[in-house]
This record gives sequence, C-alpha cells and structure tokens, in this order.
Amino acid sequence: MKAIQVKQPGGPEVLELVDLPVPEPKADEAVVKIAAAGVNFIDIYYREGRYKAPLPLIAGQEAAGLVAAVGSDVESVKPGDRVAYTGILGSYAEYASVPAARLVAVPSGVNDQEAAAALLQGMTAHYLVHDTFRLQKGHTALVHAAAGGVGLLLVQMARRIGARVIATVSTEEKARLAREAGADEVILYTRTDFQDETRRLTGGTGVDVVYDSVGKETFEKGLSSLTVRGMMVLFGGSSGAVPPSDPILLTQKGSLYLTRPSLAHYTVTPEELTSRAEAVFTMLGAGELKLRIAHTYKLADARQAHRDLEGRKTTGKLLLLP
Ligand code: NDP
Repeated sequence: MKAIQVKQPGGPEVLELVDLPVPEPKADEAVVKIAAAGVNFIDIYYREGRYKAPLPLIAGQEAAGLVAAVGSDVESVKPGDRVAYTGILGSYAEYASVPAARLVAVPSGVNDQEAAAALLQGMTAHYLVHDTFRLQKGHTALVHAAAGGVGLLLVQMARRIGARVIATVSTEEKARLAREAGADEVILYTRTDFQDETRRLTGGTGVDVVYDSVGKETFEKGLSSLTVRGMMVLFGGSSGAVPPSDPILLTQKGSLYLTRPSLAHYTVTPEELTSRAEAVFTMLGAGELKLRIAHTYKLADARQAHRDLEGRKTTGKLLLLP
C-alpha cells in the first residue's frame, strides 16, 4: 500500500511517499481501508518532532473508510462497516490498523469525506464549548483563527448555544467566512490590536473565555482580554509554543483560570468517544453544523497540504484522498 512516512523530523519535505505491506490486525484491532484522511495541525507537530513518537512513523491521525479485516477478539465491528477514527497515528495511507474500541460508526447521512472532516475538529469544538468551559447564552467568547478547521466549527457551536462570539482572523476573506459561521464581531488581528479591540467591544469588561489555538503570538494578550475570573482555554500553538510564565500572572490579570486541554482526555472511554462523535454527526445530519471542505489533495501531495496549512493559506478542512 502507499503511505506517507516520516523517517526524521523536519519540514514538509520529510513527508515521503513509500510502499509498505497492508497491515495485519492484532487481536483487538480492525484494518480500515481509508477513503479520506483528515489533515490537522497536530500532524505538523508530529512531523516537526514537537510531539514525539517512535520513528519512522506514518503521519496523520484521522480517517474514514470501510473495515477491511478484524482481529480475533473484535466483536464491535465487521468487514464492510463504515467507520471513522481519530487519535491513532498512521492515517496518511491506504490502510491502517486501529484498535476497534477507537472506531465510531458513521451514519448513512454522513459521507466518508464529511466523516473524516468532522471527527477530530468537530469533537474538539464540542468538548471546548460543552465541557472545558460550559459556554452559555449571555457569555462572550473570543475565538482565535476562526476561519480554520476547528475555528469555523467552534464559532458555529458557540453561536448555536447563544453566546456572543468575537473572532480573530488574518485576512478579509477569512473574516467573511467567520461572519458566515456566525461570529458577531471579527477582528483582523494582523492589523488591529485584538486586546484593545476586545476591551472596546465588551465595554471594557473583557470576555468570559478565550479559545486560543494560536499560542505564542496571542496568549499573553488573550489573558489581558479576559474578564475577572475568566478562563483561558489554550488548546494549540499554531504560531509556536507559549513560553513558561509565573502563575502570579493569573492573579494580576484577575484571578483567571488557565487550562491546556487535549481531545484525548475528552474521549477517554469508548462511551465518551461514541457519544461525542454521535453529537457531532447528529448536528451535521440535521444541518446545524456546516463543514467547509475547502482543500482536497492526493495522498502523494501531503507535502503541499502541510505547506498550505502551516503557511496560513487554508480555511476550513483539508483532506488527503488515497
Ligand atoms: P487551522 O485550520 O486553524 O490552521 C491554523 C490557523 O492558525 C491558520 O490558518 C492561521 O489562521 C492561524 N495562525 C496564526 N498564526 C499562525 C502561524 N504563525 N502559523 C500558522 N498558522 C497560524 O488548523 P486546525 O484547525 O487543524 O488546528 C487549529 C489549532 O487547534 C492547532 O493549534 C491545533 O493544534 C489545535 N487543536 C487542538 C486540539 C486539542 O484537543 N487540544 C484538537 C484539534 C486541534 P489566520 O490566518 O486566520 O491567523
């Protein structure tokens, strides 16, 4: 089978198209024939070595497709079932062997590309608004990189709850998409100081929660954009990792809360995984959540997909189609 392998950490050029044997399932695994693989920013962290895994690795950790074979202990799925998964490395490939407990069933109203586009980023947006900070009507949220994959879904889910959303983006085109997704206010943070503008838009009070996936370039000003006892939800570092800082900063800025969550800890049990995936697929099926699959690439073009994503050229979701 064809797969995209990383032998040494580095830039997009380390993503190498290779031929490997189709994997055999271990007793608790199912082999998935991949129809679409999601491209996510976390794939860049693994490629660069910012997140560690034994090398060589097959990149990617999100896909949808058909079960091709199952291990001897697997009863939850059978060959021919349509499934999706996230959180297991190896999805930039034609086949991947995945623990059966990490597979979710894809309902008939959701196609393979939609499933691969929605699972990781949709479940992320879902836990961020429902569990990390329980967003409610009357709250104001600041959402960075709002035209990105997670961003567009996060804005829609926050608006669905009835919260006011202040979004940041880098271009006019991204601003238009953020508004279409439901953002009440959009700040072009590459031109306007988002801290000052957020304070102005909230009458000096600040926002209840900041959803920050940009990290290095936005973190400190984000803390200064929060209301007293507001929450900083730092969930990524697209611009780089946030440097260490003294917790007294949280006191000085208003007894703030800080969390650094990960999807893995919000899909711990098969029950939690299934119910969160179902919630996302149900919203999709009901038309309450719109996906923007703006960029599809052949598997062999994984390097280009990474260049586009890290070059801030993309909006919504990127998929690789093996
Ligand atoms: P995006 O589609 O959001 O792409 C990244 C965006 O970040 C860019 O489009 C860009 O938007 C913005 N950005 C700001 N500064 C930079 C920079 N210096 N370099 C590159 N991009 C920059 O990606 P994803 O939706 O895949 O992921 C978004 C973030 O969410 C990532 O940080 C990812 O790690 C995180 N994440 C965290 C999860 C968790 O559970 N903790 C789960 C899923 C994702 P603009 O041009 O508008 O500034």
